[in-house]
Amino acid sequence: MPNKQTILVAGGGGFLGSHLCERLLADGHDVICLDNFFTGSKENIRHLLSNPGFELIRHDITWPLYVEVDAIYNLACPASPVHYQHDPIQTTKTSVMGAINLLGIAKRLNIPIFQASTSEVYGNPTVHPQIEEYWGNVNPIGTRSCYDEGKRCAETLFFDYHRQLGVSIKVARIFNTYGPRMQANDGRVVSNFIVQALKDDDITIYGDGSQTRSFCYVDDLVEGFVKMMNTPEEVTGPINLGNPGEFTILELAEKILEITGSESKIIHRELPADDPTRRRPNITKAENTLGWSPEIDLNEGLKRTIAYFSSIFS
Ligand code: NAD
Ligand code: UDP
Repeated sequence: MPNKQTILVAGGGGFLGSHLCERLLADGHDVICLDNFFTGSKENIRHLLSNPGFELIRHDITWPLYVEVDAIYNLACPASPVHYQHDPIQTTKTSVMGAINLLGIAKRLNIPIFQASTSEVYGNPTVHPQIEEYWGNVNPIGTRSCYDEGKRCAETLFFDYHRQLGVSIKVARIFNTYGPRMQANDGRVVSNFIVQALKDDDITIYGDGSQTRSFCYVDDLVEGFVKMMNTPEEVTGPINLGNPGEFTILELAEKILEITGSESKIIHRELPADDPTRRRPNITKAENTLGWSPEIDLNEGLKRTIAYFSSIFS
């Protein structure tokens, strides 16, 4: 393979990272997976350990490291509100110091670096659907701020390394993504509802369930990552990656109940602080720049994800 590369995937032991490692190996690359296993799991990548193209480094990206690679994907950061609020100082350190450490490698080696940013940079948006030009509406001192502001500062660092030092950057703003290998106890809505439905436990809707989200299936998202990394140097992003289908949380619960045939009852719990009321990506930029749009709709993606959770509980 002429363009075989060695690619560093920081956060490669997590939900999205493990799918990305698989994809890059399937494309013929060598992969160095770096993870401190805070929210990731060796189970996610155990099937890759025997692959000669795959290496694992247990490391925390808030500390410097030296590797020789051809490209970097930075996915290292807990993504679920429950986990990123568990140790909020470490969450900000991971986004900010982690970005500095990985950008330093990209600068030294003159290689491209991809940042897994987030729709959370838009906060509780006053512009809907969210376009990349929108600057966001983020509380700087709330319980979600460690994640939202950490990711915003990481974007600032990426663009300053680009402007000041000429580093080739690819910043993707990811909207809610789901699929196999989400952790059952992750606290995110899709995994929570599926696990509750499969166990016939109560489905916990926070608030009245009228808040909206847009859910992208993991395979679609990983395709977007790879397409973005393969763009010419002048494409920096930020580019929204997500599925523009918009559903209320109540609609999501009802779909999962229908597909699983569960006897679970819907109950309501208090809405967490600063929970965004609506979220939906405008993906025009991804369509025009990357030729990318998601192909797997929510029903199909939920069926595949439910099949995965059924298999781990059987
Ligand atoms: P995840 O929690 O499953 O994966 C994150 C991985 O990073 C885990 O393996 C974790 O152990 C590792 N990690 C955390 N802190 C680290 C550190 N200091 N050093 C090294 N490794 C560390 O979450 P995910 O859903 O796979 O998300 C991956 C990335 O995508 C994250 O950066 C997240 O912010 C971003 N993102 C995800 C979504 C989504 O819906 N899944 C949405 C927006 C953005
Ligand atoms: N949510 C819910 N019940 C749950 C978990 C989450 O109603 O058991 C809601 C949550 O309040 C939010 C939405 O589902 O409005 C998405 O939550 P998630 O934690 O998955 O991600 P977020 O988009 O908020 O980062």
